[in-house]
Amino acid sequence: MNVLISGASVAGPALAYWLHRHGMQTTIVERAPEVRPGGLPVDFRGTTMRVLGEMGVLDELRAHATNSGARTVVDTNGNPVGTMPKEIFAGELEVPKADLTRILYDLTKDNTEYVFGDSIRTLTQDASGVRAEFEHHAPGTFDLVIGADGLHSQVRALAFGQETHFTDPMGYAFGTFSTPNYLNLRDTGFFHLASDRAVAVDVVRDDGEVMVFFMFPAQGVQRNRDAQQSAIRTAFEEVGWEVPALLEAMPKATGFYFDELSQVTMSSWSTGRVALVGDAAFCVSPMSGRGTSQALLGAYVLAGELSTQDTFETAFGEYEHALRDYVATNQKAARMAPAAFSAAPLTQDVLDEMAAASKGVDSADNVTLKDYSNL
Ligand SMILES: Cc1cc2nc3c(=O)[nH]c(=O)nc-3n(C[C@H](O)[C@H](O)[C@H](O)COP(=O)(O)OP(=O)(O)OC[C@H]3O[C@@H](n4cnc5c(N)ncnc54)[C@H](O)[C@@H]3O)c2cc1C
Repeated sequence: MNVLISGASVAGPALAYWLHRHGMQTTIVERAPEVRPGGLPVDFRGTTMRVLGEMGVLDELRAHATNSGARTVVDTNGNPVGTMPKEIFAGELEVPKADLTRILYDLTKDNTEYVFGDSIRTLTQDASGVRAEFEHHAPGTFDLVIGADGLHSQVRALAFGQETHFTDPMGYAFGTFSTPNYLNLRDTGFFHLASDRAVAVDVVRDDGEVMVFFMFPAQGVQRNRDAQQSAIRTAFEEVGWEVPALLEAMPKATGFYFDELSQVTMSSWSTGRVALVGDAAFCVSPMSGRGTSQALLGAYVLAGELSTQDTFETAFGEYEHALRDYVATNQKAARMAPAAFSAAPLTQDVLDEMAAASKGVDSADNVTLKDYSNL
């Protein structure tokens, strides 16, 4: 089987790894000119740790674990009001997303054809295969095409329809960037909540930088940097603590990234020979902390079913069957998170409850999946 994958971040390379291990041929087309260097830390727990172990990358990931420790929750004057235990946001293992994507790329580059700096332009499928035309490269025909190209998936737009039919905006937007560590933070971070808007500052590495995260109620913000930074400034102009200094640093900051909090919900994750995986199919939003796990487990199950079922149609059906409940649970929890933050003062009792829930043995992180690793 010859599979074209769009997207070389998490779901795409993980899928290529498992497809190759099951004897299939893969090509990955990625719009960026190289493996994307940016992104906030992402974390893993439960079943995802097992799957990463089966992929043989856990030791290397552990070597790139972030330095983040507990976050101090501060009031508007910078006085500590509580401690946010690491379990809430860092799982069993937390790594910068850029390290994860590079490790997955290194794992797959010898057995997968990578095409950087390109994108699928058209998809046409019939009973024998899918023809893909690209922005730059010559067209090709594949047995299957899988969109692992994120929240704003091009494969979803081409094969299923326009994005607005499948995305559910959550009424919030977020902006992140890196800036010099002028607060001299070490192994720790700060979190400040001002009613319905939040700001976090975290040390990810000992590289003299901190990562800043702003989240606030917003909808329909234009997709250009000036409008996005202006929306952040307006939302936070009355907020105290270090916010004025962080807003001043924002225009000069590196790695600025902005988006609206959205989830993707679809009645089917496949149409004919085209399927979706990761954020493209079932984005849960950054509110969950489980998007990367969903991408990794989605890739694992999709490849496993393709290698065990007689037809790709049955495989796509079984893939959905295995993961629908897991995704629905995560999406429900993420939808409740912004309101939960702003509903009550963030006391130490509330933070301790959140930490205890993150450790729960029955949590969604311990999803039961078939073992496809010994096929
Ligand atoms: C601010 C923020 C914080 C987060 N925090 C966490 C966290 O703590 N824990 C966690 O588990 N998850 C977290 N997530 C979610 C996590 O990053 C995603 O769920 C995960 O990266 C999904 O992986 P993916 O491979 O499906 O998609 P993505 O990582 O979005 O990758 C999509 C890839 O497709 C490429 N692409 C896009 N369009 C095209 C095209 N037309 N042609 C070719 N390639 C294309 C992109 O360049 C990219 O490389 C966070 C996300 C954000 C935005």
